[in-house]
Amino acid sequence: MSEQISCTHCSTQLDLVGEEDFRVGGATGFAGMFLGGLNQLSERVLSLQMYRCPRCGHVEFFLPGA
Ligand SMILES: [Zn+2]
Repeated sequence: MSEQISCTHCSTQLDLVGEEDFRVGGATGFAGMFLGGLNQLSERVLSLQMYRCPRCGHVEFFLPGA
């Protein structure tokens, strides 16, 4: 990975933070308590590459391998 991505706010070059895992799909809060263990069935982990701007703190996410 040597792509240079510029911040959409201040045009500073973004730093690659790394790959972050996000849980998506599962029910949370009251609905999660109500459904109990069932909500884990619909939950999965999405890995995204995260870039942050050292100047303004803006972050961008990209799907790896795109
Ligand atoms: Zn910026």
